[in-house]
Amino acid sequence: MSKHIISASEMERYGYCPLSWHLDLKGIDAEGEEVTSGVEKHKEIGTSLTNLLVEEKKSRETSSTLLTVVGMIMAVVTIALFILWISTDSLRVNLGVILLIIGIGWMLVASFFLYKLLVSTEKIDKLRDDYKLGEETIETPDGLTDDTPILKSTKYNLAGRPDFIIKKDEDRIPVEIKTGRPPKAPFFSHVLQIGAYCLLTEETFGKKPPMGHIRYGIDNSPHEVIWDAKLKNLVIDKLEEMNDILAGKMEAHRNHKRAGKCNSCSRRKNCPERLEYN
Ligand code: SF4
Repeated sequence: MSKHIISASEMERYGYCPLSWHLDLKGIDAEGEEVTSGVEKHKEIGTSLTNLLVEEKKSRETSSTLLTVVGMIMAVVTIALFILWISTDSLRVNLGVILLIIGIGWMLVASFFLYKLLVSTEKIDKLRDDYKLGEETIETPDGLTDDTPILKSTKYNLAGRPDFIIKKDEDRIPVEIKTGRPPKAPFFSHVLQIGAYCLLTEETFGKKPPMGHIRYGIDNSPHEVIWDAKLKNLVIDKLEEMNDILAGKMEAHRNHKRAGKCNSCSRRKNCPERLEYN
């Protein structure tokens, strides 16, 4: 049997409660309205990002077509001037009319592509403003961009897909989008998950990311989670625990005494260790 590879989203589950992660591994699904609406919202976010990337790709293609058309116009003008220069007076008038028609035709084609480019740029600017993305290059791990990041680490038995990656000069910053109500500070489990993405980014690209971003809603400003030695050690410690549980060297149990946490847990119905309010 192939070895189970731990995903970064499993680390989030483990960070919430090790037993919740283990129940999920045993096939006990999360339940509740929040889970369903979270999945739906995440899908919508994915579609919005896809739209943005598709639009940017189209814009790049239109821009290169426009450049080709402008090049053609320049070539036609040069040839026309040369022919007019060497031709006789009687030919000059007829040739002049033909070349004028060709020239107007190419100008119309160029205007069409220029218009397409302007519409596309406007759409992109709006989407980027809505999502507070600035000018940064974004990559997604779904094959839409040419430089598709596959994030995995054999060393830590870990794999994962952040929602997207910001490429800033030589740095890559993984971004995870959460759909719940924005808290004042990111939850521990979310920090652990973005830490897992930072570890994967470091392993995959061979360069330490300065931080990861957690966004509560795509249109909210990101929380910056600094990828320092403390967070890296924490992520590696938790991964070791998870790998030990998978290898049967350790058992997964509830690691807290908070009835409120169990009450909000999406696996409480089938959990043998859940806490109840007195
Ligand atoms: S109900 Fe409580 S103990 Fe059980 S998995 Fe959820 S948080 Fe953990």
